[in-house]
Parts: sequence; structure tokens; C-alpha cells
Amino acid sequence: MTDLPILSASYLPRVIACPASHVLPQMKLETSEAAERGTNIHAFLEVAFNEGREAALEKFSAELPGIGIARELDLELLWADLDEGLAEATFAFHPEKQAARLMGTSLGRQYENTGEILGTADFVAKHRATQQIVVVDYKTGLIPVDAATSQQLAFLALAAHLHFGTGDVIARIVHIREDATFHFNEREYAAEKLREFGAKLSELQQVISVFSKWHDAGKTLPVNIGEHCRYCPAIASCPAAAAVFQKLQWALNKDKIDQWNLRQLSAQEAGALWERLQLIKKALEVQETALRDFARENVLEVSGGKQMMLGKQEYSQIALGRALEIISEVCGHDLAEHLLTATNAKLPKSELETALKASGLQGGELRQVLAVLNHEFEKQGALIHATREVMQPAEKVIKLQDK
Ligand code: SF4
Repeated sequence: MTDLPILSASYLPRVIACPASHVLPQMKLETSEAAERGTNIHAFLEVAFNEGREAALEKFSAELPGIGIARELDLELLWADLDEGLAEATFAFHPEKQAARLMGTSLGRQYENTGEILGTADFVAKHRATQQIVVVDYKTGLIPVDAATSQQLAFLALAAHLHFGTGDVIARIVHIREDATFHFNEREYAAEKLREFGAKLSELQQVISVFSKWHDAGKTLPVNIGEHCRYCPAIASCPAAAAVFQKLQWALNKDKIDQWNLRQLSAQEAGALWERLQLIKKALEVQETALRDFARENVLEVSGGKQMMLGKQEYSQIALGRALEIISEVCGHDLAEHLLTATNAKLPKSELETALKASGLQGGELRQVLAVLNHEFEKQGALIHATREVMQPAEKVIKLQDK
């Protein structure tokens, strides 16, 4: 098991649904801004609990994503019914031994891979009135998570139950909204339910072990497509993504894909097709990101033997506000009016050329007008210069890099 990535509680929904995703080669997924916002809010709350709100206010600039929300939270209310709290408490669960331990607090989510399943509770404490253990998960996304069905929370409740040797455990989601208000939803786990979940995790570990051996032996692993594929780090090596078109068994004639009659599909087939298309889109996105990273440093040889690389390219756009007067002077008021209604604040040069052609200019005359306009735009500060990354002849990129 230790050759495999760490199995962390936050991955459980995906790994339970599709154990192969834990065994197939994985790639690092890009962090979204929403994830960064969530991480910052969690970090703020950790410091606020351990060192006090003032320390957190000092440590985290309001400019950081999510910190504006964290600074406004009513922290007294957040922890009002809880005592003896621990922030960022990491538990390790051993599926074979059905035992759990507290690895520590504030470990910064940097763990050693011991083959155990690991999970960090944002907060764990005793309920002031009932003395029950409460495990808390702060959620910051727009979509509320239900404590009753959260497998991550079930894991944390199981680990807390085993580590503290208590009976029932309360699993609580605190959903932090964009306006800095929050609300709780929670589920009470009976000890028996938690032990059932522990047994399920033991079975999962066995499946992963078997899949790992199959994978080493070169076998194709069975996978299970669903919503969980969205954040799957194994998507680029997923056999379902690779074989997606061959597996569309309802395509009568694969050569005539554009003639598929979607209306003939049953609701179930259409749903399956939708899920597969989402999967392939996501897989393509992941592959493209990786390929772009590769092409920044390495040459790609495309058809015709052309060598390409990803390199910076300078470009300029016309700031329409400033340019309109110049266009009006050079080409007349009508063209300037037309561009004003037809385009955005930044006018691509190609669009200006199209508009000039549509007004009857062509050939040498067109080139001359464009040259005059460009000259005036440059002189009068109506051009916005920027750089972007594009795939281009490798020779050009290497030359630029050598400069
Ligand atoms: S992308 Fe493939 S491997 Fe990943 S969860 Fe979906 S079906 Fe499983």
C-alpha cells in the first residue's frame, strides 16, 4: 500500500466510488481560486483558535482570497457550544487493525505515508451540554454539504470514536457563506454505524491492494464514472476516458458520429453519454495543461516534421476609447460609430481590419490606412501591449530564450 499515494479522508468519496482512481498513475491538479479561498479561511480559523483573533488578523492580510470573509466571522458563536477544542487535528486510521490514533495538530497537512488512512478535522471538541465528541468540518464552497452523507466526516467521526474511546459522535458541517454568516448541519453517529463504516474501509483497502497487483501485472482496472470524476487526479490515465468513444455502444455507425440521433437515446443512455463527455472534456483539459508544461521546456514535433514549442508572444490590442478619435479622423465618423457599437473596450486588430474591409477598403489602400492608424495609435498611446503564451516554431522560442 505504501507505494500508492496517501489515502486521505477528503478523497474517500472518489476512492469509495472508484477504487481504481487511487491506483492509476496520478497527476497534480491545478488549485482553483475557490480552493485557495477555502484554504486561507481554514488557516485563519486555525490561528484564531490557537493564538486568538487578533493574531489571525495580524497574520492574514485582508487582500488574500477569502480572508475578507474570515475576518468578519463571529468566532464566539462559531465555537459557542464546544469545549476542549483542538484545531486541525489529524487522525490516522489503520483499516486492518480497526484502530485510530491522533497524529497531532497543526501538521500543515504534510504527512508521512504509513499506509494508514489519514484525515484532518478542522476542529474537534466536546459538546458543552452532552459531553459528546463533535468533529467539525468547515465548508466554504457555494454548494452546501450534508453532514448526513459526508464520507469525509464519517471517517473523522470513526477516527475520533476509536481514538477517544467514546460512544456516539456528532459530525458537524459548518457552512461558511460569502457574506460571512454560517450555519450548521450535523449528524449523530451511533458507535455501531461507525464500526460498520470502519469495516467498509477495510474492504476498500483490500480492493485497492488487489487492484494495485492487477495494475502492476498490466491488467486494465474496472472504473466507475460519475460526478466524482471531476476532481480525479488519475483522469489522464483512466481507461474509461481513453476508450470513451469506443464504448459508446449505442452509436450505430461510428463513421457518422454527427448523425447520431440523440432523441433515440433513453434517459439513462443520455445521462451516461453526458457523464462520459464530461469525463473526456476534463481528461483533455488535464492532458493539455500537462502538455503545455512539457512544451515550455521541450520541442514537440508535429505533422510535416515541424518543431513547435510554447513560448511568449507579444501582442497589442487597441484601447477603443482612445482610438476612436483617431479612427474618426483617419477613416470618418461612420466607421468609428460602427466600431463603437460592435465591439468591446479592447478592439482586436483583426476586427478593425474586417471593419475597414467591410467599408470598401482593400489591397494597397487598406494596408496604407492600417499603417497610418497603427502609427497614430502607437504615437497617441492607444495601444495596450501584453504578452501571452502560444505554440510557435521552436526555433523562434529558443532564440527568444537565448536573448
Ligand atoms: S476519471 Fe476514471 S479513474 Fe478517475 S474516478 Fe472517474 S472513472 Fe475513476
